[in-house]
Amino acid sequence: MVVGIDDIETITVIGSGQMGRGIGAVAALAGYDVYINDIDESQLEEAEEEIEWSYGKAAEKGAATDDEVADALDRITFTTDFDEAVEGTDFVTEAAVEQQAVKEDIFEDLDATAPEEAILATNTSGLNITRLAEVTDRPEQVVGTHWFNPPMLMDLVEVIMTEHAPEAIGDTAEALIESFDKTPIRCKIDIPSFIVNRLMRPYGEGPAWMLYRGEYSMKEIDSAMKYKEGFPMGPFELADFTGGIQIRVEGEQDHLEDDRPMSYDTKVCPLLRQLYEKGRYGRKADAGYYDYDEQDEPEIPVDAGQGFDTMLVWAPVINEAAKMVENDVASVEDIDTGARLGGNWPMGPLEKADEVGLDVVLRKLTEVSSRHEETNKLAETLPCDLLVEKAKNGETFY
Ligand code: NAD
Repeated sequence: MVVGIDDIETITVIGSGQMGRGIGAVAALAGYDVYINDIDESQLEEAEEEIEWSYGKAAEKGAATDDEVADALDRITFTTDFDEAVEGTDFVTEAAVEQQAVKEDIFEDLDATAPEEAILATNTSGLNITRLAEVTDRPEQVVGTHWFNPPMLMDLVEVIMTEHAPEAIGDTAEALIESFDKTPIRCKIDIPSFIVNRLMRPYGEGPAWMLYRGEYSMKEIDSAMKYKEGFPMGPFELADFTGGIQIRVEGEQDHLEDDRPMSYDTKVCPLLRQLYEKGRYGRKADAGYYDYDEQDEPEIPVDAGQGFDTMLVWAPVINEAAKMVENDVASVEDIDTGARLGGNWPMGPLEKADEVGLDVVLRKLTEVSSRHEETNKLAETLPCDLLVEKAKNGETFY
């Protein structure tokens, strides 16, 4: 018998880095007994200090009482002993480094050590979860639970299913996430990047091409998306913040070789490669699209984007969302919830599509794809059938 939500008392987190410590902190505050495991003792020490600090902040803000945070801290065991962390667990969240081989080893060990009814989840940002499931003898009990950084503050968790996982496993994972007071959305198929990062890609990539072709400036696009549309950051500012240039260039080969449904088949914009080769990885390298040696944030004038048509950015993002609906990867509501809670976007792409009208979206998309044809055939911007069909019939997503 696989555990259901009522059977879950003990949760194990493998990896006590940025994400693991946050996930452990959330789970303990929700009343679960938590084991946090790491191979690196100093990481566990740091994790303990940081959890204490974040609990202090939660108490200061009135999100929890002093007694609640003290009890939560008592419920967490920090250990380098893998067997101790896993032997009595009901639900594991693996949050070790983002390397397929490391995760596959961990899943083999989890399968050998965790009680046979335990569910094994991974917090991977985009690696192949189906393959992780397949290294175990319980592929039907493996699921993705993709948290957002920092877990204590971000409300969203994506639940990713594989072809081996029955609905009941997804339902249990979602119930668990709701018991943490977080909002789950369901990615019904294990596709590269899952839901939210799937939307982030055209948000970053489309503008990179526009800049590469010399059509618009960074400040024009960033200002328009930030101040006219209400995104927390424009695409270039965001890429610098998240290290998107490095992630995209270093991940290109894996993406091209990925054989999951909806895998990517296009190459990175040459501009990203040029920046990468100069070591301009983003804010942490003091240089990315912008320079950060003298400032922490780029100066983006409020009115610099007045002349920029923001639909040129929105249209490929909406297309990507429509493709997920077309391929039954996620519901319209879950995609929009993901964008709002995971990306802090002002609205979801499908809400936006309905607001402006699908005929307008299609027109803009056609404009973007024809520009791409001159430089790189960017198949990802070709309008999907669902969008074309809906636009033709005057339909909406809601
Ligand atoms: P991190 O580098 O901060 O932490 C990884 C931790 O895993 C380290 O403490 C390391 O010592 C530990 N570790 C490595 N091998 C291990 C093993 N065999 N057993 C136990 N512990 C091991 O990484 P992070 O940013 O916390 O990311 C963790 C996972 O979460 C990755 O898969 C990442 O892609 C994913 N993720 C990260 C973010 C983010 O914004 N940082 C967001 C969502 C998902």
